[in-house]
Amino acid sequence: MDNCLKVFQSLSGEYYVFDGMTGRILTVKEPLIKETFSQTEKAVIDCFEKQKLLLHPRFERLVWEKGFDEYLEFIESNIPSLLLQMTTRCNLNCDYCVYSGNYAHMESHGNLDMSHEIILRSIDFFAEHNKDCDEAEISFYGGETFLCFREMQEAVVYAREKFPNKKLIFRITTNGMLLSRNVANWLNQNQDVITTITLNGPFHDQHRKTVSGKGSLAYIMANLKNIKRDYPALWNDRIHFIANITKVSELNELRDFYRRDVEKNPSIITHVRSQDGNDFIQDMIFELNPGQEKERLALEYCESGDAFLNAYFGNSMNAVENRLIKENDGVGIIGSCLPFTEKLYVHADGRFGICETACDKVILGDLQNGFDYNVLADIYSKAYALFNNCCRGCWAKNLCTVCFKDVLDTDGEFLAEIPKPFCVSSRKYALEQLKTYCTLKKTASRQNSVRTE
Ligand code: SF4
Ligand code: SF4
Repeated sequence: MDNCLKVFQSLSGEYYVFDGMTGRILTVKEPLIKETFSQTEKAVIDCFEKQKLLLHPRFERLVWEKGFDEYLEFIESNIPSLLLQMTTRCNLNCDYCVYSGNYAHMESHGNLDMSHEIILRSIDFFAEHNKDCDEAEISFYGGETFLCFREMQEAVVYAREKFPNKKLIFRITTNGMLLSRNVANWLNQNQDVITTITLNGPFHDQHRKTVSGKGSLAYIMANLKNIKRDYPALWNDRIHFIANITKVSELNELRDFYRRDVEKNPSIITHVRSQDGNDFIQDMIFELNPGQEKERLALEYCESGDAFLNAYFGNSMNAVENRLIKENDGVGIIGSCLPFTEKLYVHADGRFGICETACDKVILGDLQNGFDYNVLADIYSKAYALFNNCCRGCWAKNLCTVCFKDVLDTDGEFLAEIPKPFCVSSRKYALEQLKTYCTLKKTASRQNSVRTE
């Protein structure tokens, strides 16, 4: 009998149990709580054991949410979004870029733009494979997308013709260097286009330099100043920001920058990717004991609901809120998504990849021949064997973010097992999520009861 229970204390001190088999979170009543955490944990487990509660046998097996035939049927007509790698070129040379050469799974930047023909055929292929969805989303990704501004404009016009009867949204990810008046004017006129700009405030120039080695922040801020002044509706509604941090300790200064110089919060704050980064990346992100500062900010977030901190904590809170909760019927669901169920990722040369973050050596088909069903069958069964073997007894499985990018080697072959350091940090992250989530819920109910008194 495996113990898939995780006893934990919220940031405000209450005890809970996460049941890793069903995904439920249980509140521990006061009488069970002893003086120290380790005794409390034992008391909780003993109590469950005595009452024959929640000490489940490990799942006999995990399964994909969709059987293979059902999966193939789904991707024939239900792919919700298209992600186009418009170019492998960039006008910046960011040291933590996945294409910087510092990540084992990704080729360095190249010199290839997606051709007009490939763009149109990608949209055709996507339209065909999105036909049972009510909405469609097309995202432009790079390299730097605005190096291909004319092609993006043509793609938008063409896609609107291909999707005459459904809601269609375009998303552009950019470094913000080429947001000229001409570009801003076009963005202003096209209200179905949402732009996300990377802006790291005081830490920006340290990492995001031009090819000639100059910092890029001043150029971007000048562009933003013009947009804010000339196109307030565009600025307010359709210009979004993402901030990348290398350390938790950067968050306070970053918040000051956004409040003072941008007057708008980022939509999302992410850590620079550590997985498959070389020593340079590992040194860049190394931080001695970030947990204390993270807990302090998490508590502040729970109490105040600060919108800046929501960009950092909000996504993980949504993930806990929307976690899978099920009966323990002996069969668990694999958490990773399957290729194409969330997006169709097309490389600049027209070949299909898993997604923009996963090993770019795995090719799942192309525009000429469509999906490669042999490769899909192969990765479906190999990934299944790996996840089923490694994850079925793990308490964190309903919260873990493991996906294909974490389980492939540099040649695109599946690893024999999921790397231990990944699991250690994933479980640590899951625990932080649970602590913050329970604190947030408790604070919200306390604040609500004060309001209604
Ligand atoms: S702007 Fe984006 S694509 Fe270009 S180097 Fe920086 S992170 Fe990479
Ligand atoms: S932490 Fe490791 S073993 Fe647990 S679910 Fe995630 S990948 Fe699987």
